[in-house]
Amino acid sequence: MAGYLSESDFVMVEEGFSTRDLLKELTLGASQATTDEVAAFFVADLGAIVRKHFCFLKCLPRVRPFYAVKCNSSPGVLKVLAQLGLGFSCANKAEMELVQHIGIPASKIICANPCKQIAQIKYAAKHGIQLLSFDNEMELAKVVKSHPSAKMVLCIATDDSHSLSCLSLKFGVSLKSCRHLLENAKKHHVEVVGVSFHIGSGCPDPQAYAQSIADARLVFEMGTELGHKMHVLDLGGGFPGTEGAKVRFEEIASVINSALDLYFPEGCGVDIFAELGRYYVTSAFTVAVSIIAKKEVLLDQPGREEENGSTSKTIVYHLDEGVYGIFNSVLFDNICPTPILQKKPSTEQPLYSSSLWGPAVDGCDCVAEGLWLPQLHVGDWLVFDNMGAYTVGMGSPFWGTQACHITYAMSRVAWEALRRQLMAAEQEDDVEGVCKPLSCGWEITDTLCVGPVFTPASIM
Ligand code: PLP
Repeated sequence: MAGYLSESDFVMVEEGFSTRDLLKELTLGASQATTDEVAAFFVADLGAIVRKHFCFLKCLPRVRPFYAVKCNSSPGVLKVLAQLGLGFSCANKAEMELVQHIGIPASKIICANPCKQIAQIKYAAKHGIQLLSFDNEMELAKVVKSHPSAKMVLCIATDDSHSLSCLSLKFGVSLKSCRHLLENAKKHHVEVVGVSFHIGSGCPDPQAYAQSIADARLVFEMGTELGHKMHVLDLGGGFPGTEGAKVRFEEIASVINSALDLYFPEGCGVDIFAELGRYYVTSAFTVAVSIIAKKEVLLDQPGREEENGSTSKTIVYHLDEGVYGIFNSVLFDNICPTPILQKKPSTEQPLYSSSLWGPAVDGCDCVAEGLWLPQLHVGDWLVFDNMGAYTVGMGSPFWGTQACHITYAMSRVAWEALRRQLMAAEQEDDVEGVCKPLSCGWEITDTLCVGPVFTPASIM
């Protein structure tokens, strides 16, 4: 098995030292730096990703995980997931290039964007990437011309009306249009091998997965009837990334397992995939953001309401990052980021109504409002947990052009667990590193990453 990740890729964190401690040290170092230019930076706990993976294998033993590269394409994340044996779900040519650059074989890549540029399809053809998704006739026509030997996965629409971020308006074909597309593929000698769906992100109802699995069964029957050899079911993403999510991962897994038993029972010969993004990375990343400017705004200014009647002013802090960068979840996921303060305020210290704003010169770049914080200062660092998904490198997927620096860390115990996993896979002569559950108990006992405490202003 390829050694994608080595000890030189991360800081080995010894027992009793947390990633929080590491972050504290780094912010101290950054504050003492002589330069006036500060930049937000991340600390990523790769051990948290390893732990998530073991949890996945335990909860969904029949499902083979693929990682949705768009979610966080930073090198440490890709390498640790490659080392764990995951496949990779890519949305475009840049992502396919990126994972191939670290040595991922084409057989472990799915191009899961149903509407691709011709250049992307040609890239897949040239580099041996066979699995491609589609949901319309035009896409089939492009594939006939540019990648006739592709194995196509038909992306069906789901009921994602309750999800925070919906995808079915943009992607996925309705059940009633599936037969026509499958017939069309047959007519043009395009092989359709399976069905995919995506229930959207932040879905509060795990039954959405069960419904989509039932729908996929119908499409399998249609495809088989028309002569397609259907053997891939792709459950997409949408799995929660934090413990505090409305629906727990374990709950979703249990609904999925029951639906699979009903519609795709063990031994049915179907390979079941999922394409997880936020599940793997959200809680592994913590970011430190600096206050670059500050001002007091009187609430009796025209257009300003007094809050709670208890204060007449609010403090406006300007940060070096905002909603057009790493805090884009404020716009897309309706999240209100809550900072963790590095110094615990005393009980006598007054709290002030405060808001946090990004660096863009417009009125939309508001990171958080309605916070109650002690008096903070220019140069202070604010720390935010759960910042791994859709944050780093949003604008550019290429290494070296990440806007924010990332320090990767992993506990020795996590590193050892990862190595044991590899050895177990190698002993089974598993050249491609297919994910197998590992029962080591570490994922429950390791305390490297303590879950975030969300209070109006929690303390490091
Ligand atoms: N698969 C596809 C096709 C997607 O579009 C996305 C995200 O938009 C994902 C997987 C990952 O979703 P999540 O981060 O919610 O797991």
